[in-house]
Amino acid sequence: MVSSTQIMEKVLFGFAKQWIAGNTIDDALSAAQSSYKNGMGVIINRLGEYHTSKQIIEKTIDEYKIVMSSFRKWNVNGGISVKPTQIGLSRNMKECIQNFEILIKSAISSQTFVWIDMESSDHTDETIEIYQNLFSRYERLGVALQANLMRTEDDLVDLMTIGAKIRLVKGAYRENPKVAYKSKDKIDQNYLKLMGLLFRKANEFGIATHDSVMIENAKKLSRKYERRFEFQMLRGIRDDLKPKLVNMGFNVSEYVPYGTNWLPYSIRRLKERKRNILLLGSAFIELHKPQKNF
Ligand SMILES: Cc1cc2nc3c(=O)[nH]c(=O)nc-3n(C[C@H](O)[C@H](O)[C@H](O)COP(=O)(O)OP(=O)(O)OC[C@H]3O[C@@H](n4cnc5c(N)ncnc54)[C@H](O)[C@@H]3O)c2cc1C
Repeated sequence: MVSSTQIMEKVLFGFAKQWIAGNTIDDALSAAQSSYKNGMGVIINRLGEYHTSKQIIEKTIDEYKIVMSSFRKWNVNGGISVKPTQIGLSRNMKECIQNFEILIKSAISSQTFVWIDMESSDHTDETIEIYQNLFSRYERLGVALQANLMRTEDDLVDLMTIGAKIRLVKGAYRENPKVAYKSKDKIDQNYLKLMGLLFRKANEFGIATHDSVMIENAKKLSRKYERRFEFQMLRGIRDDLKPKLVNMGFNVSEYVPYGTNWLPYSIRRLKERKRNILLLGSAFIELHKPQKNF
């Protein structure tokens, strides 16, 4: 007898496939190749977070190194995006920095851009510290900042003084109202404010959103301020819009996750959109119905 949990997992996996390239490095590179053929860059992320096992962390680092050294062979224009807790932050800061240094050595030889994902606000201070430490030694390094956090304007202003490369996102983690804006309106307002700061005072940044209002505003700002920036969107979301932006001459990169650890990432994607939850609910009910035998 198949349990409800197994059915739920099956339905969830069916859903998650739209956002994830597959289980292996080759799956990620092949997805990256099709992004490239469609005129986009790619940012590859190996799924997984909060690793404490040294063995898993080493495997993660090895895989990122393989990904970076394969870009040329696969004819892909790409970078990687790494979560600090997947390479050591859940053990200690020192190990995390050492592991980023290993990745950066490899990035230097393949001339690859490395992004640092921003996780929940428990890790914001450490992540910014890691970024500042490494950016002084490697410039092709960027960090995500989240518009839902009240502190972000100060972080952005600080980071812009060192010429940091920022990816602006709305924020994917459930946060305490003491530190974060909770309503879409407030988050959007802050996103627009921070985006304005980026266009006025920064260069080389990522506008990472699927929100048409944010994107239209970025387009307007790009007519006023000539800046190197790119739109960044997740694989499997707004696939209608990506080619339009490419055709208009904008740089667009797709964030492509791969790996077997798909659940936390997929749950975050599900929660971002009510319609996804409704679709998931009806798929679950459909599969859970007693099967009729004809
Ligand atoms: C390239 C990239 C990197 C990211 N890196 C980080 C990071 O490091 N740290 C972090 O906290 N967050 C990260 N995020 C996630 C981000 O914080 C948001 O959670 C996510 O992008 C949804 O916000 P939105 O800007 O698209 O706007 P929303 O207001 O959530 O959505 C606007 C519109 O976009 C579409 N849309 C949004 N999400 C979905 C979805 N799941 N399925 C279908 N349609 C959808 C819908 O049309 C929706 O109306 C990243 C996002 C991107 C695109």
